[in-house]
Amino acid sequence: MNSENQKILNQPVQFIKSVGPRRAEAFKNIGVNTVRDLLFYFPTRHLDRTTVLTSAKAYGYVINGYDGEVTIIASVTDKEKRRFGKKEILKVQFHDSSGFFECVWFHGVKYFYSSFNEGDIIAISSKPEINKYGKLQFVHPDFDRITKEESNSFLNTGKIIPFYRITKELKKGFIGDLSLRKIINTAVEQFAYYLEETLPDDIIKSNELLKINEAVKNYHFPESKILFEAAKYRFKFEELFYLEILVALKKNNFQTKLKGNEFSIKTNLVSEFIKSLPFTLTSAQLNVLSEIKKDMLAEYPMNRLLQGDVGSGKTIVALIAALIAIDNGYQAALMVPTEILADQHAKSISKMMNEFYLVYNKRKIKISLLIGGQSKTKREQEKKAIELKEADIIVGTHALIQEKVNFSNLGFVIIDEQHRFGVKQRAFIQQKGKTPDMLIMSATPIPRTLSMTVYGDLDISIINELPSNRKKIKTVLRGENKLPEIYKFIVDKKNEGYQSFIVYPLVEESEKLELKAATDYYNQLKDTYLKELYVGLIHGRMKWNEKEEVMFQFLIKDFDVLISTTVIEVGIDIPDSNIIVINDAHRFGLSQLHQLRGRIGRSDKQGYCILITDDNLAAKQKQGEFNFEYLSSTQIEKYKSIVRLQTMVKHFDGFKVAEVDLKLRGPGNIFGTEQSGFPDLKFADLTEDHEIIYKTKKIAFELIKKDPALNLPLNKAIKENLLLHYNDNIKYSSIA
Ligand code: ADP
Ligand code: MG
Repeated sequence: MNSENQKILNQPVQFIKSVGPRRAEAFKNIGVNTVRDLLFYFPTRHLDRTTVLTSAKAYGYVINGYDGEVTIIASVTDKEKRRFGKKEILKVQFHDSSGFFECVWFHGVKYFYSSFNEGDIIAISSKPEINKYGKLQFVHPDFDRITKEESNSFLNTGKIIPFYRITKELKKGFIGDLSLRKIINTAVEQFAYYLEETLPDDIIKSNELLKINEAVKNYHFPESKILFEAAKYRFKFEELFYLEILVALKKNNFQTKLKGNEFSIKTNLVSEFIKSLPFTLTSAQLNVLSEIKKDMLAEYPMNRLLQGDVGSGKTIVALIAALIAIDNGYQAALMVPTEILADQHAKSISKMMNEFYLVYNKRKIKISLLIGGQSKTKREQEKKAIELKEADIIVGTHALIQEKVNFSNLGFVIIDEQHRFGVKQRAFIQQKGKTPDMLIMSATPIPRTLSMTVYGDLDISIINELPSNRKKIKTVLRGENKLPEIYKFIVDKKNEGYQSFIVYPLVEESEKLELKAATDYYNQLKDTYLKELYVGLIHGRMKWNEKEEVMFQFLIKDFDVLISTTVIEVGIDIPDSNIIVINDAHRFGLSQLHQLRGRIGRSDKQGYCILITDDNLAAKQKQGEFNFEYLSSTQIEKYKSIVRLQTMVKHFDGFKVAEVDLKLRGPGNIFGTEQSGFPDLKFADLTEDHEIIYKTKKIAFELIKKDPALNLPLNKAIKENLLLHYNDNIKYSSIA
């Protein structure tokens, strides 16, 4: 790397004309220390002259039925607050060369009132309307303040003006829109030239990317809209390219450096087990099994993500794979997020293995359960069994990694509901064995863009069909006023052998309140609407064995209805429970709702998922489309909940549900991408930039395959840039 250039770019910002000590201090406070930092302090948006109209033109557009956005530059002539009963509204009058118009605010009136003064020149961008007096008007428009000088040059020379985030630190240093624009302009003109290319030439050429200095220039002061898009594309490309390089390095490191267990099919244990199952495996299950088997029989360690919707039969697939390891004399561990789920898995696997032993009496597969809530003596007993290899399959919670558990020879690890575990916990359980094969399961389908990025180091298997005996669950949304009818439905259906869940959400994150709510409803319902039925109660404050007892009673039909808080969310398998009523459904996240729905529809009976919300919201949903442009942020939150509920009613497929969820919440929250060990993305959007993700993945993986240590001269820029900017992220890679 050219150190002269480096030196120039690493000079303090004060080196730039018109940045004195005071401004330098302000920049420092927002993390902009050097000239280079400033070059990468990018605008949050631009105003483009091509979309600027006069107010007369805009008026004409609306009259002619245009309903897109326009931008008008105009000056403030008057402002006025008006009261309508309890509500106050703000009207601001504007004037430009062609006439007058007004802008209206219903919310934040006080704030916006103080934002405008007579004579201010403002660029207003929004969808224009004609009000009832026949005047042009904008409601809650986006707006930017511009200077007189700018408004002239802007209009006359057709520039695209950048707008930067002006933080309070910058304001303190007397840096405003205009001065910042000037400072950055100077910096770009003078120093962008010295920026060193961070992508190899051949990649730039073959993908027709802008060079870094052109990209920086055009991201700040685009010569045209097309060049701005090109600049943005280049930065997205670069970001995703490096992400994929990191993914490829990690995967390469895992596959070439580590030696796993090379299993083989020793006996007919596995094939006999499959024969003994009371059902035939779906073809999706069989496909996935052969993918897993291929990994297990190979020398490299398996690192595979198994995705399949709730109820698609992942557990049985994992179990069959575990038997391959057991057949080779290894132990297998199954780690799950809750004690009750661990307990249920241990029980059902034990039962299966006992039944299997009756037909295949050559080898008894022994199960151990390890959870925090066990008695000390019990746990010691289990630990001993694990250590002495009296246990073949060890089912447990975090207890598997937290306790001093010594496996005799752990060769296979299954992690269920992976999103409930972090990267670290995965690593911990892995270290309990000698590079055991890993099978990571997820019921929340992971969109392809994510499986190619943050999960890109895993191989992926998908079970994309449900067992054929399943009926599609009917999902409906109802207002609270319909509850009595719904209770009656539950009572009627009981006579057809149905059991039901009634779920209440966690109230204000407080288990105490949660308990109270569920208990109150329980007491009420069992003596009123549901008095002919046997009603059980389960909640988060119970000890695991109490919960387990209740679940068991429900399973053997001691109860017809189970009232529950969210403890039933994951993995519980009660085949005859085919109605689920979810109260206050708007409080649940989408994946949670989908998980809850996954509790039912596990047999050949028709399943019913009934979402309850307040009557208003239910009515809104019925209206279908509604106008949410003028909603306040709390109302928008509510709007989001309508989207969630509508999605549940409309989609049964978990992939569709997950896609909407991703849009609503962003990837970080859902898939633990924040703890993935990969860098944050500033430009690229994992939910949108499909095309660039595919492209960069292909390029990066081919590149690392050819040059795993990045030693070729051609790839020098990549290696240098990685070491410079991605040092934290290359721990696991072969160039570390
Ligand atoms: P998942 O873990 O994917 O949510 P499970 O493994 O719990 O799903 O399977 C749900 C239920 O379906 C279990 O009772 C399981 O025994 C049953 N099952 C699994 N595979 C099949 C199949 N091919 N045909 C019928 N039932 C199946
Ligand atoms: Mg499961």
